[in-house]
Amino acid sequence: MLAERLPGLLPDLADNEAMEVTAIHSLCALPTAAVQLLRRPPFENPHHSATAAAIIGGGSGLPRPGAASRAHRGVLFLDEAPEYERRVLDALRQPLESGELVIHRSAGTAAYPARFQLVLAANPCPCGKASGKGLDCTCTPMMRRRYLARMSGPLLDRVDIQLQVERVSLADFGRTGAEEDTPAIAVRVRGARERQLLRLRPLGLETNSQVPGRVLRGALRLSSPTTRILDHSLERGVLTARGYDRVLRLAWTLADLAGRDYPDHDDIGQALGLRQAASAAA
Ligand SMILES: [Zn+2]
Repeated sequence: MLAERLPGLLPDLADNEAMEVTAIHSLCALPTAAVQLLRRPPFENPHHSATAAAIIGGGSGLPRPGAASRAHRGVLFLDEAPEYERRVLDALRQPLESGELVIHRSAGTAAYPARFQLVLAANPCPCGKASGKGLDCTCTPMMRRRYLARMSGPLLDRVDIQLQVERVSLADFGRTGAEEDTPAIAVRVRGARERQLLRLRPLGLETNSQVPGRVLRGALRLSSPTTRILDHSLERGVLTARGYDRVLRLAWTLADLAGRDYPDHDDIGQALGLRQAASAAA
């Protein structure tokens, strides 16, 4: 449900983004189909039984875009992520770094944009009953480890927020509290995007996710007391260099959402915690 709500939080596509997204989708449509300008961020959720070509792109003849490219500027959701082919999961590492998928086939090479937000969902174990007290789960620790290991370390190193979500109890399910709804949060997200744009446009960038490490540690450098916890994690080997930059990007986003000019020590701590919450709970 969280993954399906995510596109509703994202702002409308700007003109140049709408053109890009529409161009990719028109490549996948029937030649006779009328093309309409797509204004909303796309949402793609290919099934785990889909072929690698259907997800990554490919096929016979000139390679065609797959679900990952159709999710450009939107959300790519893989439910039951460990069930996907290993080569599909590993192929996603490239666009998560570069925002582009390059596909080589005998008929030629194609490069399609693929700058999506990736959402992976996984059960805690093959039988799916290990959450909470996990009393009904029949899986061995070995089976659980092997199942989750299908999502490789290098892939998870590129996933900024990793959360353990507990099973919803009947009491929680029926509760309709004062939680913010999607339109209210979307307003905050739009405000955060505008802050980013003001800060990053002079650098030729638009969103925190696009900021290269050298800029994070250069023009946007934070004071060393602010990043102390992060430096410490890097020194201890808890965090990779890539992970370090990714925590900084997330901390900037937390500050933008809160309407602050710079991330403070707490933003850094929260970003680090969001990255590690699942492994800490496992
Ligand atoms: Zn189990």
